[in-house]
Amino acid sequence: MKVITRAAEMEAERAAMKGRVGLVPTMGALHEGHLSLVRRARRDNDQLVVTVFVNPTQFGPQEDFAAYPRDLDRDLILLEAEGVDVVFAPTAEDIYPLGFNDWVEVNGPLTERLEGEFRPGHLRGVTTVVARLFRIVRPQRAYFGEKDAQQLRVVRRMVEERRLPVEVIGLPTVREPDGLAMSSRNAYLSPEERAAALVVPRALELARRMVEDEGVRDAAAVRRAAEELIRREPRARIDYVSVSDCETLEELTVIDRPALLLLAVRIGATRLIDNAALMSAGVESAAAAKGWTGARWTV
Ligand code: AMP
Repeated sequence: MKVITRAAEMEAERAAMKGRVGLVPTMGALHEGHLSLVRRARRDNDQLVVTVFVNPTQFGPQEDFAAYPRDLDRDLILLEAEGVDVVFAPTAEDIYPLGFNDWVEVNGPLTERLEGEFRPGHLRGVTTVVARLFRIVRPQRAYFGEKDAQQLRVVRRMVEERRLPVEVIGLPTVREPDGLAMSSRNAYLSPEERAAALVVPRALELARRMVEDEGVRDAAAVRRAAEELIRREPRARIDYVSVSDCETLEELTVIDRPALLLLAVRIGATRLIDNAALMSAGVESAAAAKGWTGARWTV
């Protein structure tokens, strides 16, 4: 496995690659969620590049950029074991040279709500860095997690709008046995907060049950039930609870199509996001035809 830190060197390495090139962009502090993307990408491609870059432009000034967990040595051991060909771990100066102004942005409703509303500039930072990594690595396929549902849709939109020659593949959220979505930020949680964080998967499961098992179609009722459950946990603060169209992420009044429940909840100083598919009888076949599956676990 090669470890490359300079963009020019990565470009030279890429130019010599033959066959299908897959890319998994990460910010490191790897867990099984990341590794599920790596494993799928390994199976699908001849060459596999994983990037490890804590992207400063997707953090707000009051956010956790400095504190974000970093352990490249451990990440490299994990990636080597998965048969990765190249790890590209660039410096910030290489990605953002002095005077950098080449922002890549998706405009419109997809980026105005949810993370776009609560983390101004975050999605622009994501699209900018992903576009730059695409330019340097030139992958045929790139892999992203459904865990960051809005990010995945925004990256897809960017690829469409700019006609980038990359196939974007979204993969299901990997969870701990008790339902908590794996996240590098879970490392911030104290044992008490870790227990409190279970309100997030519990709220998702409650909503899923209401829609799927009880046939509830009133989006406000689902939102309210999820909010009430979360509010019962004193350590939890809600940023948003949203029932949205699963593709456009527009807020729904009636759940009459494949939808997502999207949550952003702060537990102490740690902000967690998660989402679940709300499948309902009327829309099940349409969703299945799209290969769209709801996450299920027991809480
Ligand atoms: P990050 O390092 O947090 O930027 O995540 C890198 C990629 O891993 C993104 O595409 C995430 O959506 C994905 N990812 C993060 N957590 C999970 C998870 N629990 N399951 C699946 N994918 C994940």
